[in-house]
Amino acid sequence: MEGFDLDLELTYTQALQEVLGIELQIPIRWKKGAEEDLASMQSHALEVLNGYVNYNQNQAATVLYSETKFRVRFKGMLLTGTIDQVRRNVDHTLELIDFKSGVQRPSKHALKRDWQLNLYAYALRYGEIFTGGSWVRSRLRVHRTSIYFLRAHEIYKRDGKYGKKGEEKGCPLISVEKPSWELWQFREELGNIIKMITKDWAFPNNSACGYCAYRDKCDDRSAVHLVHQYANLHQVLPEVELESQKGKQV
Ligand code: SF4
Repeated sequence: MEGFDLDLELTYTQALQEVLGIELQIPIRWKKGAEEDLASMQSHALEVLNGYVNYNQNQAATVLYSETKFRVRFKGMLLTGTIDQVRRNVDHTLELIDFKSGVQRPSKHALKRDWQLNLYAYALRYGEIFTGGSWVRSRLRVHRTSIYFLRAHEIYKRDGKYGKKGEEKGCPLISVEKPSWELWQFREELGNIIKMITKDWAFPNNSACGYCAYRDKCDDRSAVHLVHQYANLHQVLPEVELESQKGKQV
């Protein structure tokens, strides 16, 4: 795999400077001051990057595409996005990887029905990717879709119930097999997803509320909304109660 001999500290510093330079308009609120926060970010990033570089499965695989744009047509819509990584493993299987740096470890159960990764797998099979300066049909059949949970490379700083000091926090790859029939199933699902998105009704995805930045503003989560629901409940409950009492009397 390319890039495994890079100077991680230098590469990280250059990448960070580049990002900070591009997004000057975004104000940054430092927790303990710029210097201290940047030092702790760097030490955390190097811990994770070292874990990534030293992970055997990463070293053995061949990256076919990285940060690659795709497009795929479906029912008159053009769906586009960027795929984090497609790699070929030593057993010749193709794996589609999405990197996650969030705090919470994603669940394998949710991954099976993950719309985002299913769309990527669908696009690799039936759509086009942008590579070598032009759009090409990739026709790649992905055998597995995976989330690469970067924080699994964090190291325990002391002995605890989940691990010993110096050990990594777990396995970074959370994977599910992707048989061809699932892409056909997803095609059906995609039609429904597009209908939902393009209709003018709210379709809250409550499984994401825990991580959502709009939680405080969202009607589907707010007390106002709940108060409204409970108000309806108060109207309905006496009627239900009455009906059941009538039933008992008969
Ligand atoms: S808080 Fe609201 S907007 Fe955010 S995920 Fe939940 S339902 Fe959707």
